[in-house]
Amino acid sequence: MQYHDLLAGFVRLHVLHHAAESEVYGQWIIEELSRHGYTISPGTLYPMLQAMEARGYLTSRPDTTGRAGRPRRVYVATADGRKALAVARERLQELLGEVARPGGLDRGGSGP
Ligand SMILES: [Zn+2]
Repeated sequence: MQYHDLLAGFVRLHVLHHAAESEVYGQWIIEELSRHGYTISPGTLYPMLQAMEARGYLTSRPDTTGRAGRPRRVYVATADGRKALAVARERLQELLGEVARPGGLDRGGSGP
């Protein structure tokens, strides 16, 4: 993923957001992220999911109801993960107000 160091936090938040709504699994996340312009490989995603689980943001369980009964791991946000998401959402709102302001990205002032 290009600019991984900067965007990794966005990816984690995105994953947490969806995991707070319903159970998600790796392949779905990869497709969802690609819809949003992120190219993320399983080799990057799975360690990220494991780290988020180790940190207590996510919990997972094996699931065999997927396509062809192939076992997969589904993830869902924990109570702590939801709390962290709520904090991140506030910060994001604030950051967005600053970064996404017209002209905010271009101090030359050529914005609308
Ligand atoms: Zn999404």
